[in-house]
Amino acid sequence: MEPLDRSTIWPYDEQGEPGEFSYQRFGSPTVAAAEAALGELDGGTALLFPSGAGATTALVLSLLAPGDTIALVGGGYYGTGLTLAALAPWRIRVVEFDQTGPPPDGVQLVWLEAPSNPYLTMPDLEAAVAHPAPVVVDSTVATPINLRPLEHGADFVLHSATKYLAGHDDALLGAVICRDAAATRELLTFRSRTGIVAAPDPAWLLLRSLKTLELRVRRQGETAAFLAERLRAHPAAETVRYPGLGGLLSFDVADAETARTVETSTRAIVNATSLGGVTTFIESRRRWEGDRVPPGLLRVSAGLEDAETLWADLEQALASRGAPRD
Ligand SMILES: *Cc1c(COP(=O)(O)O)cnc(C)c1O
Repeated sequence: MEPLDRSTIWPYDEQGEPGEFSYQRFGSPTVAAAEAALGELDGGTALLFPSGAGATTALVLSLLAPGDTIALVGGGYYGTGLTLAALAPWRIRVVEFDQTGPPPDGVQLVWLEAPSNPYLTMPDLEAAVAHPAPVVVDSTVATPINLRPLEHGADFVLHSATKYLAGHDDALLGAVICRDAAATRELLTFRSRTGIVAAPDPAWLLLRSLKTLELRVRRQGETAAFLAERLRAHPAAETVRYPGLGGLLSFDVADAETARTVETSTRAIVNATSLGGVTTFIESRRRWEGDRVPPGLLRVSAGLEDAETLWADLEQALASRGAPRD
């Protein structure tokens, strides 16, 4: 493995000049190594941030001015809406739109999700890049294994690297991958000045994880497709959402009470939030998102366990009457 360098300073050279690294907030070797690996995967220049939400905040504040409006994917990650709402005192405005069609006129930034979490719609990238505003694709769920948005004309890719990229539920990280060199420099300057920068330890974990990304994501995608197919044939699953790629799916059961019974009745599948890890998770999204989602919506993130074992677990949970777990 590449070494983990936790230094915050590096000495100047013999002439008293700073070398490539001088102070950690401006850049550090382990973070730079992880950025190089991720940039190659997505076909651009990567910058790491302390979380996906931190990456969102840095990107929006560096690109936009007070009074500007973001066209935000409707039914996307609820936390992005909350992050952007926190910027309302700085007069950053948001309008939601259906990303399967063109973005509205009169906005200064277009924000898509590939696919959206938890509705699992795919964006119309062609319609979005025809819009004059810069386009950001939150590609957390697709990962660069399934989609490279920069190749479709997007200006920025954003990842919650906490999810598939780090992939083991042990690192909180975000990333922005830029297409354009000038945009990279601006975002890097903004990051250095505001200090919204990733630390070496999670960057090292990301570097480790990227080595198995393709294997993990392919397996998670196969398992998710298999679970979606079985759920579609199950009478208790009303709407099964799976876009045909990635490890995330969602479906509806009759009501909130049934959803609670199902999520607390699984044994192999863990009842927890988040996605993209090696462990399979299930949760009712109502607890976080309220009325934005149907009361019986359950989201499943496929891990690396045996697919038949996972289905057997889900099937017994769907048949459960709410008896306590043994
Ligand atoms: C989790 C998530 C985020 C936020 O990332 P954090 O690392 O939790 O800050 C952003 N977008 C999507 C699609 C996510 O799933």
